[in-house]
Amino acid sequence: MGISRNILLWGSKNTWLLNHVPNYSFVRRALKRFMPGENLSDAVEATKMLNQKGIPTVFTRLGENITQMSEAEEVKCHYLDMFEKIKDEKIQTEVSLKLTQIGLDLSFDKSLEFFNEIAAAANSINNFVWIDMEGSSYTNVTLDFYRRTKKINANTGVCLQSYLRRTENDLGNLLNIKPNVRLVKGAYSEPSEIAFTNKQDVDKNYLKIAKILLTQIKENDITAVFGTHDLKIIGEIERLAAEINVPHDKLEFHMLYGIKPNEQIRLVNEGYKLKVLISYGKAWYPWYMRRLAERPANVGFVLKNLIMQ
Ligand SMILES: Cc1cc2nc3c(=O)[nH]c(=O)nc-3n(C[C@H](O)[C@H](O)[C@H](O)COP(=O)(O)OP(=O)(O)OC[C@H]3O[C@@H](n4cnc5c(N)ncnc54)[C@H](O)[C@@H]3O)c2cc1C
Repeated sequence: MGISRNILLWGSKNTWLLNHVPNYSFVRRALKRFMPGENLSDAVEATKMLNQKGIPTVFTRLGENITQMSEAEEVKCHYLDMFEKIKDEKIQTEVSLKLTQIGLDLSFDKSLEFFNEIAAAANSINNFVWIDMEGSSYTNVTLDFYRRTKKINANTGVCLQSYLRRTENDLGNLLNIKPNVRLVKGAYSEPSEIAFTNKQDVDKNYLKIAKILLTQIKENDITAVFGTHDLKIIGEIERLAAEINVPHDKLEFHMLYGIKPNEQIRLVNEGYKLKVLISYGKAWYPWYMRRLAERPANVGFVLKNLIMQ
């Protein structure tokens, strides 16, 4: 893992930076590349444009590790209202959320209750809710949470991270519940005892797990989604899928708003499913630092905005 990635991930947890960086206008301008705006209405407008190009979206309201149950309740109400909005606006979009945003740090049972309410509201309009995967201290509890909710909410899925050494095993243990899985590389800073720390190993593990998921799509009709912008990996998944006869419309990719838009269009044109994850909300600082860490060259773009102000 590069030093700059480590510094940016350290910065994502630094309180002084959290309190100061979001106030700089050049940072806010640079942020626009990855986020259409702080409000749900910004995400809705961006979705309308993408839907016109045949691209559905996934909404995520930024925020994590909340410290008061009242905040979790407010987040839950926000998501319940969101499904009303999705229905009224007739937009093609799903939802993805972090469990620590609905109170996982405070109470497992209460956050499960909140999540089940959100999933039921989604189900009432034929919608779907993804559970993000956070840092490794949450892996066990998130998988346990997913097992419990999946029993009553078929319209839910969980994210797995290929940088964790345990993930192949975790997937194996989930297969008996016919999980819906979004596979990503992983965005947090993790020690080498539990995580692959060089890109080659993370990519190799990604493809190993992708192969298992492709077989599951073919044999058990599970929903598996590949959340990546890595063109080599996408190409290899397309090749593997063709080899085992997974049709294009059963292969689904998710990408983040603003990243690799040409590839997004190519996938749609070739008949694959492609969704774009749109983040919004005021609590964007740690999330944005993780986006910069994924491609430290992005820091140059932020600085360009400083020079141009
Ligand atoms: C839909 C979706 C959901 C996700 N959910 C989670 C989650 O729940 N938990 C979690 O830990 N992580 C999540 N992530 C983040 C993920 O773990 C990776 O950190 C991120 O996707 C970058 O990895 P990559 O697969 O694109 O490959 P990389 O090897 O990092 O990148 C491949 C190429 O994509 C481009 N690229 C990648 N990231 C950026 C960027 N930020 N800015 C500009 N270009 C970029 C670059 O050209 C790069 O060379 C999610 C990602 C996606 C797409």
